[in-house]
Amino acid sequence: MKGLFDKLMEDVRFEEGLKACMNCGVCTAICPAAEFYNYDPRQIVTRVHSRDEETILDLLKSETIWYCGQCMSCKTRCPRGNVPGLIIMALRKLSQEEGHFTESEKGRQQFAIKRTVGENILQYGYCVIPENINPDLHREQGPVWEWIFKNIGDVMDRLGANYKKEGAGALRKISDESMKELHSIFEVTGGKQLFNKIEEFSLQKARELNWEYKEKGIDNDYFRHTYTDNNGTHTKT
Ligand code: SF4
Ligand code: SF4
Repeated sequence: MKGLFDKLMEDVRFEEGLKACMNCGVCTAICPAAEFYNYDPRQIVTRVHSRDEETILDLLKSETIWYCGQCMSCKTRCPRGNVPGLIIMALRKLSQEEGHFTESEKGRQQFAIKRTVGENILQYGYCVIPENINPDLHREQGPVWEWIFKNIGDVMDRLGANYKKEGAGALRKISDESMKELHSIFEVTGGKQLFNKIEEFSLQKARELNWEYKEKGIDNDYFRHTYTDNNGTHTKT
């Protein structure tokens, strides 16, 4: 049976991202996420580099692999040509494929992002759809957003958008042909398969935690937890 390191090696991003680390810490010094989170890309590279299966398994279950903002600043600075950001992409994918992401609070957020951004893309062709930004889940937007949300049609007209309508313009309806193409991309690249894995493992976790889960939508306890929970240990104090 293939080990975790061998599985990571099958990911072209991992192969490109990990050459030989000399532990200098330049990636951590340049990393904007390390400034904010309790996070150190140098340590992730060191742990992966050890090839120790237990260590890699711990990483797949950890909070730390979800802190990277994928900005790729580390790519430009590593004196050995490593790319911690790419190593982390490979770790995240393996964590999703094997279900370890549900073991961490940040990892469980994969469910929330799949149910929002992921499904928006497959349904509308956009990451963000104004009518899906529920004011109850976005109190930070304040009462103005609540008003916009209720009057979204009028607001879009006044802004000159072509919201969900045929033809040109901002937030227009994406053509059936383009949507078909988009779905094909998600099929052949394994995106849909990964979405299914996120659902499957999230359902298992919801049962384990005894949190209500629904097959569709965001009106369920598991979504609310994954969207809003914050155990307070992620950021630097
Ligand atoms: S900058 Fe490169 S060599 Fe230095 S710790 Fe980071 S990955 Fe390793
Ligand atoms: S890609 Fe990730 S690890 Fe690299 S600098 Fe950006 S946030 Fe840090």
